[in-house]
Amino acid sequence: SIAYFNGDYLPLDQVRISPLDRGFLFGDSVYEVIPSYAGEFFMLPAHLERLDRSLAAIRILSPFDAGQWTALLEDLLARNADPATPDLGVYLQVTRGVAPRDHAFPPDARPTVLAMVSPIRPLPEAVRTEGVAAVTAEDRRWGHCDIKATTLLANVLNRQAAVEQGAVEAILLRDGQLTEGAASNVLVVLDGRLVTPPLAPSVLPGVTRSRVLDLARELGYPVEECAVSESELARAEEIWLTSSTREILPVTRLNDRVVGAGHPGPVWQALHAAYQAAKPGAPVS
Ligand code: PLP
Repeated sequence: SIAYFNGDYLPLDQVRISPLDRGFLFGDSVYEVIPSYAGEFFMLPAHLERLDRSLAAIRILSPFDAGQWTALLEDLLARNADPATPDLGVYLQVTRGVAPRDHAFPPDARPTVLAMVSPIRPLPEAVRTEGVAAVTAEDRRWGHCDIKATTLLANVLNRQAAVEQGAVEAILLRDGQLTEGAASNVLVVLDGRLVTPPLAPSVLPGVTRSRVLDLARELGYPVEECAVSESELARAEEIWLTSSTREILPVTRLNDRVVGAGHPGPVWQALHAAYQAAKPGAPVS
């Protein structure tokens, strides 16, 4: 595939990152994953706004404005156009740049910008009919999970622990309260309401989360952003994971116990359909 790297478009395997890049040495960088369907970005402005907030939070001056980011990313999509993989996720990373290794900010490094693509596959039939398994884990991440930083070691270890237990995601709990997944937000159906933890430093403001909440309100479901305890999670009628590349995943087993009726629930069915219909290139109904 073709990547964008510091002003050039080139095959991904020809990109060379300096060992002195602060993204490599310190995880001193932020990122976005932006979905596109049939060659068109989905919710790009929301991703670019979050990128700006992440950059501002770690005091990297954004190298581009929204118009320039859009042009760059659309150019990248066009260069990767392939009918065999119409849906692509763009991974975009901005680091503080290359400088002699020292923790404090270098006086004059220029941000490193990398963007690359990978295919987004439709949810497998088995997931749509049977759902997926998740496990809970203690949320031991740092205090600024609202910044989309590449410093993801805790998330990596939590996801790996989940995979080793035959699950697809770790659902994180901090002080007995749900925060989010290792790489997803978590929404639950509880007593007939759609509930998710409110935005806080312990939660990434997911673009998919926000879109799904809007769609649910439009469909007339009662929606609440409020704390979810471990015991409420355990008795939820439905549990969903949301992210840009996995969309809305229905969790039907949590820690080896069946969730709700043990298959993707009716509220998931409705929101999954609404989400599919909202995507670019969706058939007009
Ligand atoms: N929470 C975490 C920790 C994530 O890494 C992600 C995305 O991968 C999300 C939530 C979901 O965010 P979005 O819907 O914007 O992709």
